[in-house]
Amino acid sequence: MTLVFATNNPNKLKEVQGLLPSYIQLKSLEDIGCTEDIIEDAPTIEGNAILKAKYIKDTYGYDCFADDTGLEVIALNNEPGVYSARYAGPQKNASDNMNKLLINLATQTDRSAQFKTVIAFAKANSMYTFEGICKGEITKERQGDGGFGYDPIFKPEGYEATFAQMALALKGKIGHRGKAVAKFIEYTATLQ
Ligand code: IMP
Repeated sequence: MTLVFATNNPNKLKEVQGLLPSYIQLKSLEDIGCTEDIIEDAPTIEGNAILKAKYIKDTYGYDCFADDTGLEVIALNNEPGVYSARYAGPQKNASDNMNKLLINLATQTDRSAQFKTVIAFAKANSMYTFEGICKGEITKERQGDGGFGYDPIFKPEGYEATFAQMALALKGKIGHRGKAVAKFIEYTATLQ
């Protein structure tokens, strides 16, 4: 089956492509000629994922899945959450975002946090959602230079390395997006 993955993020595309079974052929937004920005203005992570999948289904007609992710920091009342991409401003800069988070957490003793991914799947006239959560903690400084986004400052529970210090395959297995993708794959297997 051919599905569009509604992302322009090459890191996400690579991560998800590596997790999908061979019966799913992936098309990117570039592949279908979608160059416009999809406005992500829903108040929740789930809402933004649904908004993206629905936009592609309605505009281009393809069955489509989209993911949206947020980092929820317990001591900061689950911020940045749905605002993770633009935490330090509209420039959506990962380095600025990490700096802001480290500063805001400097006086806190509880550094626990979780990544939450929601995948929304728009198929025919229906919408399905799948959630993946990865618990962990925010480190005091950046460690590692792999991955993207907040990876250098997030250490998943049970590991001494940050996501930025891990092989992509391990992040895929234990991470939020991998868990949501696993649920999504389980569902797509029933459609074959
Ligand atoms: P998005 O809305 O899913 O594109 O992501 C929201 C924000 O979370 C962006 O700042 C991303 O860089 C960040 N983010 C998303 N997924 C991950 C991840 O797996 N690791 C680290 N940061 C991520």
